[in-house]
Amino acid sequence: GAIVPAPAEARAAVLPYQDPSLPVATRVTDLLGRMSLDDKVGQMTQSERGTTTAADVTAYRVGSVLSGGGSAPSPNTPAGWADMYDAYQRGALATPLQIPILYGIDAVHGNNNVPGSTIFPHNIGLGATRDPALVERIGRATAEEVTGAGQDWTFAPCLCVARNDRWGRTYESFGEKPEIATAMTTIVDGLQGSRLDGPASVLATAKHYIGDGGTTGGTDQGNTQISEAELRAVHLPPFAAAVQRGVGSVMISYSSFNGVKLHGNKYLITDLLKGELGFTGFVVSDWAAIDQLDGQRGFTQAEVVTAVNAGLDMIMVPTDWKTFVGYLRAAAQSGQIPLSRIDDANRRILTKKFELGLFERPYADRGYATTIGSAAHRDLARQAVRQSQVLLKNAGGILPLAKTGGKIFVAGKSADDIGNQSGGWTLSWQGAGGNTVPGTSILAGIRAAAGSGTTITYQRDGTGIDNSYRAAIAVVGETPYAEGQGDRTGSMSLDATDLATLSRLRSAGVPVIVVLVSGRPLDVAAEIGNWNALLAAWLPGSEGAGVADVLFGDYAPTGKLPVTWMQSAAQQPINDGDGKTPLFPYGFGLTYADTQPDPDPTPTDPAPAGACRVRYTTSDWSSGFTGTVALTNTGPAALAPWTLSWTFTGGQTVTQAWSARVTQSGAVVTATGETWSASLAPGATVSFGFNGSHGGSNPRPAAFTLNGAACTAE
Ligand code: BGC
Repeated sequence: GAIVPAPAEARAAVLPYQDPSLPVATRVTDLLGRMSLDDKVGQMTQSERGTTTAADVTAYRVGSVLSGGGSAPSPNTPAGWADMYDAYQRGALATPLQIPILYGIDAVHGNNNVPGSTIFPHNIGLGATRDPALVERIGRATAEEVTGAGQDWTFAPCLCVARNDRWGRTYESFGEKPEIATAMTTIVDGLQGSRLDGPASVLATAKHYIGDGGTTGGTDQGNTQISEAELRAVHLPPFAAAVQRGVGSVMISYSSFNGVKLHGNKYLITDLLKGELGFTGFVVSDWAAIDQLDGQRGFTQAEVVTAVNAGLDMIMVPTDWKTFVGYLRAAAQSGQIPLSRIDDANRRILTKKFELGLFERPYADRGYATTIGSAAHRDLARQAVRQSQVLLKNAGGILPLAKTGGKIFVAGKSADDIGNQSGGWTLSWQGAGGNTVPGTSILAGIRAAAGSGTTITYQRDGTGIDNSYRAAIAVVGETPYAEGQGDRTGSMSLDATDLATLSRLRSAGVPVIVVLVSGRPLDVAAEIGNWNALLAAWLPGSEGAGVADVLFGDYAPTGKLPVTWMQSAAQQPINDGDGKTPLFPYGFGLTYADTQPDPDPTPTDPAPAGACRVRYTTSDWSSGFTGTVALTNTGPAALAPWTLSWTFTGGQTVTQAWSARVTQSGAVVTATGETWSASLAPGATVSFGFNGSHGGSNPRPAAFTLNGAACTAE
């Protein structure tokens, strides 16, 4: 409604900081002048809900409470969350200056803390969409669902640039190149809205500053050992972009930069982020991260001094926070932390609280509860899932699957498992398998998409398949994990359960389509020759129908790899431009030439039919075979990269091993597997040898396809 100016005598009762007509900076200055040291220490304290009562918030003037990933169970309904929030807020408003709290949560793929919320694909899938406008809409939808459950601050987006897929947080990254995360900072606009005090605006957090995705060995919370020039070139650009978009907070990384913990790095926090980049929001620590500053367990006053003087404004303590309050007060009183630093931290935090409109509207905005898991948001998530699928192999154009007739067999541990689809950070920190949240499993999506004419048989472990089926679809991959618990040091291949399922399907002699549900590339080079198609689904979240839309051609794939796909884990780290030969290069992704035009044509798209000619010879011995192939690109366009696929006759259990030498125009390029990044010019011929072993007899290459198009045999 219209704001009617209050009569002069009523206005006199309102202190300047309480007057919304005054500029925020004026209000902050007025409020700061009225605050005691205890008030200021409280604002810099973020405690965990499991160790904090509403009365604590009042007594200690706590400025922020969080439900962290590893926290005690939180409420399980949106109304329960809103009630919890309001109870803490009442505690805050019972303090003399009535400064509202901020409540922080990890809403990192939708409001994943609250049952019934729409679970969007994790960032790696969003990176594959290359669609910043879509990602902004996801941010908006997430902000509405967060607001509906009463919260006002999310620890998202993760702007990490994941340089080593061994890292357990690779899926929280939009991709291996700074350009992708930089482009996707549109999510900040979606989360925060056009103004922080606008409808359903939540404060965003750019995390984890800086270099969290660049640690040696991909170790979570590890050490990023690179030059400052590389740090700035690879890891800084997304943060610079988020700052330009006005991101309200930045979370510091647990990791170290060249041996120095980020939480104590004054140069990177104060000089670079706040100074050079001009960040005016506030800097928050990661969960109990200051405890790690001296390498000993538990935190000390010295660690508090180091962190705050380095530029930390708010400390996610999170459990032993009363001790922290004592340390911070003592450090301020003794001058170890200058009062100017304490005031600067408070000014930054309070500015965001005023900008969010919390002083005017401190309580949960329950009107948005109806958006939680709404049909509109689920449609948006399904669209995101469609766009995030990356088609890596499609031998003989087996995809898309026809919708009528015949039988399709579906198997795999993630076919009917929304928990696996959603990954970590779903209802709990680590996530869990099982249908933990409402939504559509990939199997349910397949059943709906296949239509009534097609019989879908599902058996999780693949038993019961025979050759009466047109195809088998195997949905396999990783089960949920978060942070360091997802780090992988050895091989990164499929687990024994998946391999057993796949081998049952293969033994039936029907085409096998693999849908990989995983937070990162897996080591598939040894297996892919046995598969007719491979679709990287990433961690699609609650709307599995989007995967089925691609399998059945309701949506022709447009996703492009946001990361380089290794030949084997031994290649890690492998990134675009580093000279290593991948299985599939960064940016790779096929589409269906015959369904609808690719809106973003690239040289990786299928060549027109008949665009290659192939000549081959083979020889057979009791358990093995060898042969040579000469292949000519007869199409009009140069292909780079190009993917060769083949099928064999004469044995069902062939394991191919291509020789490592491909000769083209006198140049030798190294290749194992089926994807070559060396350009294949129109008219150019490549020749190469292959060999393999087989369990049948006299295997012969029966059909070759180049980027999905059939080759003419000579
Ligand atoms: C993670 C952060 C997260 C925080 C709060 C930490 O362990 O590194 O990304 O925001 O917990 O849950």
